[in-house]
Amino acid sequence: MLILNKTAGVFSKPSRRKTYEFLRSFTFHPGKLFLHKLVLGIETSCDDTAAAVVDETGNVLGEAIHSQTEVHLKTGGIVPPVAQQLHRENIQRIVQEALSASKVSPSELSAIATTVKPGLALSLGVGLSFSLQLVEQFKKPFIPIHHMEAHALTIRLLNKVQFPFLVLLISGGHCLLALVRGVSDFLLLGKSLDIAPGDMLDKVARRLSLIKHPECSTMSGGKAIEHLAKQGNKLHFDIKPPMQHAKNCDFSFSGLQHVVDRLITQKEKEEGIPKGQILSSAAHIAAAVQHTAACHIAKRTHRAILFCKQRQLLSQSNAVLVVSGGVASNLYIRKALEIVTNATQCTLLCPPPRLCTDNGIMIAWNGIERLRAGVGVLHNTEGIRYEPKCPLGVDITEEVGEAAIKVPQLKMEI
Ligand code: ADP
Ligand code: MG
Repeated sequence: MLILNKTAGVFSKPSRRKTYEFLRSFTFHPGKLFLHKLVLGIETSCDDTAAAVVDETGNVLGEAIHSQTEVHLKTGGIVPPVAQQLHRENIQRIVQEALSASKVSPSELSAIATTVKPGLALSLGVGLSFSLQLVEQFKKPFIPIHHMEAHALTIRLLNKVQFPFLVLLISGGHCLLALVRGVSDFLLLGKSLDIAPGDMLDKVARRLSLIKHPECSTMSGGKAIEHLAKQGNKLHFDIKPPMQHAKNCDFSFSGLQHVVDRLITQKEKEEGIPKGQILSSAAHIAAAVQHTAACHIAKRTHRAILFCKQRQLLSQSNAVLVVSGGVASNLYIRKALEIVTNATQCTLLCPPPRLCTDNGIMIAWNGIERLRAGVGVLHNTEGIRYEPKCPLGVDITEEVGEAAIKVPQLKMEI
């Protein structure tokens, strides 16, 4: 058991003998002996305090997570100083739980990997300073992690997906399409020009007061919309997908949010319902907004696939599209994407929901990927800073727009 010792360092020194530790860092297989890489991953970029220990074969030896969702649901969104305080209160316990579950002592780790970009400054700061104390105390290499790179590479922990592949990351804070050519080799094809789809769904759910709906009170906004949409008719309201004339792979969700906002105000007037109460047409609105968002996401992704195939950046017949992020757990959006991948002879892969949202496993796995590739492993952490804003890879969004690829119309029968 590791015990916090504030004066001596983050954890007190483990009492195991050196020889035993040395032997534990090897894995024995009949007839062969190989060095087993073990990485501790730490994630605090937004509203989840998470940690995990993963080995180089992708085995998750231990993990722990503390989600702040419930607290932020009550305040109607993330309040950064509150998130920071909750990370501070939980990080030591979460890291200790992940290590204890893995039965790995800090001295046995090959490296410590931590999200340092992008994210909320106050949240990133907690994870980084805690990690640097651990790194200093146990004299371990440090691997700074780009949160979106980690989301993109998670699939390789589960499937033997080879580079290159296309990735669509859709969450509460992020929305991008990128071609993954290697561990830290990305081409950015498109991104949201304003808010992310999860943020839009959260705002619509709040405007619809779904937290007061008996079936949705504990759900995130996106999950509540998905749940309620099943009871509604997507064609009851005709909401046009955004950016229909822009032949690029960028996204936009704030216009859609405002359209829905005005629709809700109009319906409140018609139904004689004050703001803050649930409309009788709430399910129809949920269905329409989900359908419109799904069509928009599908169309931009379709264009990205066609662009990559046209430029021979992806295989013609064996291309892979990976979809991840909290919004990727939406089955309606997944079905819309399946229509696109079926039409373009691509394989659609999604990590399971618990690996789609923020977690420590993806950070540890990104650390393993970087260790194996020998990129970004630091033995000196002097000058290391967190970066709240940080693009992913080489931005070729303009080139994608200039190609102006026309996307054939697909029947979105979901
Ligand atoms: P971030 O950390 O960028 O906020 P996460 O990956 O933690 O995002 O995912 C949270 C987001 O995913 C929230 O915006 C939430 O509403 C959305 N979400 C979760 N489940 C669903 C779902 N079933 N359908 C659509 N959106 C969802
Ligand atoms: Mg999150």
